[in-house]
Amino acid sequence: MALAQPTPLFTRETIETRVAELARRISSDYAGTGELLLVGVLKGAFIFLADLARRLEVPHRVDFVALSSYGAAGSTQGNLRLIMDLKTPVSGQHVLLVDDIVDNGSTLRFLHGLLAAHGPASVKSCVLVRKAKPRVAEVAPDYVGFEIPDVWVVGYGLDYGDRYRTLPYIAVFEPGQSA
Ligand code: 5GP
Ligand code: MG
Repeated sequence: MALAQPTPLFTRETIETRVAELARRISSDYAGTGELLLVGVLKGAFIFLADLARRLEVPHRVDFVALSSYGAAGSTQGNLRLIMDLKTPVSGQHVLLVDDIVDNGSTLRFLHGLLAAHGPASVKSCVLVRKAKPRVAEVAPDYVGFEIPDVWVVGYGLDYGDRYRTLPYIAVFEPGQSA
């Protein structure tokens, strides 16, 4: 099946520059803190996390969680459920949650709550993209790559029905492109 190519919103070069800036800020903020535990949210954060982590200049480990949200393609509605837990104990760790995008904020709130209950030294979050819209659950991310309007984006880890994740750039997905 041939997929139509969506129009880039952030190019590969723009993303690379921004990810490098985020990594510099995070490295400077955590300098001397000890080891950082990066927690990526599957699947959307896998590419962002890989690029960000390789630019960090502080010692870190990487782990992942996976959530399911009972939503159709293109929807973020539904009840969140943890379907894959961390392997690393969180107690006493400096945790940095890494996710692809904040939409209504429920994912970040859910994960902050979950991690906070396990006695971490600190929990912060880093998202590549944040949508400019009212959020039901405001857990403000500590690091944000890009602000966008309320559109559906794909590429660089972000999907539509599990497709488009490996586009090297971020694009607005127009319904009707899927065919
Ligand atoms: P929230 O819980 O903040 O509403 O939604 C966050 C999750 O919904 C993200 O981790 C992501 O998986 C998904 N999501 C929200 N908006 C978009 C979008 O524009 N594109 C894609 N691909 N996923 C999105
Ligand atoms: Mg996600």
